[in-house]
This record gives sequence, structure tokens and C-alpha cells, in this order.
Amino acid sequence: AQGQSILSMNSIEVLYDNVMLAIKGVSVQVPKGGMVALLGSNGAGKSTTLKAISGLLKAERGHISRGEIKFDGTDITEMLAQKRVEMGICHVIEGRRVFEHLTPDENLTAAAPMGMSRSELSVQKDKIYDYFPRLAERRNSQAGYLSGGEQQMLAIGRALVTQPSLLMLDEPSLGLAPFLVAEIFGILQKINREEGLSVLLVEQNALAALEIVSEGYLIENGRVVMHGTAEALKSNSDIQEFYLGGG
Ligand code: ATP
Repeated sequence: AQGQSILSMNSIEVLYDNVMLAIKGVSVQVPKGGMVALLGSNGAGKSTTLKAISGLLKAERGHISRGEIKFDGTDITEMLAQKRVEMGICHVIEGRRVFEHLTPDENLTAAAPMGMSRSELSVQKDKIYDYFPRLAERRNSQAGYLSGGEQQMLAIGRALVTQPSLLMLDEPSLGLAPFLVAEIFGILQKINREEGLSVLLVEQNALAALEIVSEGYLIENGRVVMHGTAEALKSNSDIQEFYLGGG
């Protein structure tokens, strides 16, 4: 129901350069405290959906041409990206951007919102290091020399410093060994359970994503073509054939 959704995206259309219709009426709901996956192949429109929610379309000459997005009951469709961050929407973009010349600890400091006190920052850092012990071990090394998995952990840590209520992750598993994907996804699930953090996860790795989310949406050619519980999606024969590598 609408009342229990932290995010409610209704019939959103996104145009790039005023001509390229990238998503064509996408509706997605994220329940408060829930974990939801957007699945689909390359170019399906998953990243565009996240950018519509975080407000990052403008930088790419895109805009919402139809539909409405509500966050915690507030219409955010036209809101500035920075304002959405302040409301608690955090978007970890694809490609795990971190400041490579800074240490993980400095990266976390740099991600702190303006006005956060030193003591509050240190509480947040301790929490993040508890969730990601590997980061704690490397907190004073140069971030550029961390492994891909550790950089992804740092990118997630940087998001957590802002204490979001909705965390959106774009392809966090990209290029990582399966054991690392399992480790990071396990930690995400733990944070979701312990902190009640709502998560919207974009993944091409449907197998890994469906292990941790409670429901998923399959996007093809800019439209939602399937929506169901993780269990229902895992047992769907089309999903098995095309996205889970089974048959
Ligand atoms: P990927 O995993 O490859 O990012 P995706 O499902 O996230 O795939 P999008 O990146 O949302 O897909 O792309 C959806 C469509 O919009 C694609 O056809 C893509 O080429 C197009 N598109 C994405 N970004 C732009 C842009 N900045 N300008 C024009 N077209 C774009």
C-alpha cells in the first residue's frame, strides 16, 4: 500500500536530449525498510530509473517528461538533487567512485554532510568499520590501491555516512569475484535488518540480487515487464532461462 512505501514511482517517462525515450512509464514501489531489486539487461533503463529518483538526470541532458515520484509522501519529481540527498536519498552510482588519493578514512570524512559534528562523524565511522572490517584494516592506506571489492565497500560506506533512509546502488557487483559479491550483499542485508535502511538495488547479477531482496522488478526496453517476490521471480521460467543462466 502507498502508506507503507518509502518510495513510490508512478508511470515515469524519461527523455534524454528531448528525443530519446529511455524509460516509458515505469512504476516502482519500495516498502519502508524493504529491499527491492531492479533487474534487466544492458540498456534496459535501470540506471535511468535510479537517476530519475536521485535527480541526476539533468547532468546528462535528461528529464522526466511524465509521471510522479514520491518519497516518504513528498512529491520529489522536480526537486533539486541536493535537496533529495538532504531528505535521505542516497545514490551510489555505477563504477564505485572514491577519492583515490585519499585514505578510506579521509574518504568517509569527505562524505560527511555539512554541519555533522566530529563526534557524530566518529560514531558513524565506527559503525561503518564494524560492518566492513576490511575497510577498518585499510582505513589509512591509499584508496586507489584498494581492491575492487574494497573500493565498492568504501563507496557504500561513503553513502552510509550521510545516514540515508533510502540507499540506491547501481551494479555494486560489477567486476567482483563471486565470494566478494556474497560478502558485500550479506553486509547490505545485515545493515537493512539492523538499521531498517530501505534499499533499491540495480543488478544484472539477478542470481545474487534475488538472494537478498524480498521483491524485484524486471525491466526490458524501458518498461517493467515483471514484478514479484524474489521467490516468484526465481521460480519463473523466463527469468531462469534469460537471467539466471538456468533453463
Ligand atoms: P546499463 O546497465 O548498461 O547502465 P541500464 O539498464 O541501466 O543499462 P540505462 O543506462 O538506463 O540502462 O539506459 C537506458 C537507455 O537510455 C539506453 O538505450 C541508453 O543508451 C540510453 N541512455 C542512457 N543514458 C543516456 C544519456 N545520457 N543520453 C542519451 N541516452 C542515454
